[in-house]
Amino acid sequence: MKILFYDATSYDKESFDKELKKYEGIEITYQETDISEKTVLLAQGYDAICAFVNSNLSEPVINKLNEMGIKLILLRCAGFNNVDLDRAHEYGMTILRVPGYSPEAVAEHAMTLALAVNRHVHKSYIKVRENNFSLVGLTGVNFNGKTAGIIGTGKIGAAMCRICRGFGMKVVAYDMFKNPELDFVEYMELANVLQQSDLISLHCPLTEETHHLINANTIEMMKDNVVFVNTSRGALVNTEDLIQGIRSGRFFGVGLDVYEEEGANVFENREDELLEHSVTARLLSFPNVIVTSHQGFLTHEALEAISQTTLQNAIDFEKGCIKEGNQV
Ligand code: NAD
Repeated sequence: MKILFYDATSYDKESFDKELKKYEGIEITYQETDISEKTVLLAQGYDAICAFVNSNLSEPVINKLNEMGIKLILLRCAGFNNVDLDRAHEYGMTILRVPGYSPEAVAEHAMTLALAVNRHVHKSYIKVRENNFSLVGLTGVNFNGKTAGIIGTGKIGAAMCRICRGFGMKVVAYDMFKNPELDFVEYMELANVLQQSDLISLHCPLTEETHHLINANTIEMMKDNVVFVNTSRGALVNTEDLIQGIRSGRFFGVGLDVYEEEGANVFENREDELLEHSVTARLLSFPNVIVTSHQGFLTHEALEAISQTTLQNAIDFEKGCIKEGNQV
């Protein structure tokens, strides 16, 4: 099977090349640019393409892939809200993903953001480098004894619940389905989670229902001085409302690995460019906000698991024995 691998980075090549040695009959060509209406034409002559979480797999791109006879899209990620599934299914394409690779990687990053913003690590790092050893402005709060509110307790949310418990926090959660592994978690309505929590972390998927789940109304329900973290999807939060909430002093700190309009920024070095939107710049203007660039998944363990499952998906497709949960 010949696979064209879009948006390849050095860490992708390293992890996939290492795994590739274990799989026979797969040939990968790495392509640095991501898939678009123009670059989709490079897939001519390949059997499959491999794409990532922000790759453009919209209707025009899917139409072109179909014209070129591509029957398999390998997503090296869990999310698939970037794929026009209706059109792809209409053409009989198979779309395989990696449903879970390392929930702990994302949950640990969520706690990293919460701790960093709480203890002002982003500020103290810069201050000490400038020989400013003053502690003024760096006071944080103890998480021990406080309440963590987790929204969405699937694989990543459950890992975050366990981490918060390890910090000595009371853990409350909102999800339509109780996770039976989390006997130490108190489930309650969303409003109650928002009202009671000192740390709120989002771990539900982006759906019609969860779009702008965090908005002016739900921010109003939160405690003053809450630490808020989003490592799930940007559009779970109405950013304009979040910015208003930050301006009005509602949040002790905000840590975002994902945010609306991140699309053009994610994984790109844009240091010489003027950004077309003001959302990122406005978020970065606040001293109590830390933004990272969708790096929650980025650990060696997660990359290894992603490459293994993606290559196994390719083999399973050829053998006609696709693993349940991997196809979307
Ligand atoms: P999962 O499917 O295991 O869990 C999602 C949970 O959310 C489920 O328990 C589900 O019942 C719950 N849920 C669904 N709708 C809900 C709603 N309206 N309100 C409350 N809960 C709801 O998924 P997961 O593997 O834990 O991943 C969670 C999310 O993390 C993904 O959807 C993705 O957006 C994000 N993610 C981010 C990164 C990153 O690098 N930052 C990496 C992987 C995944």
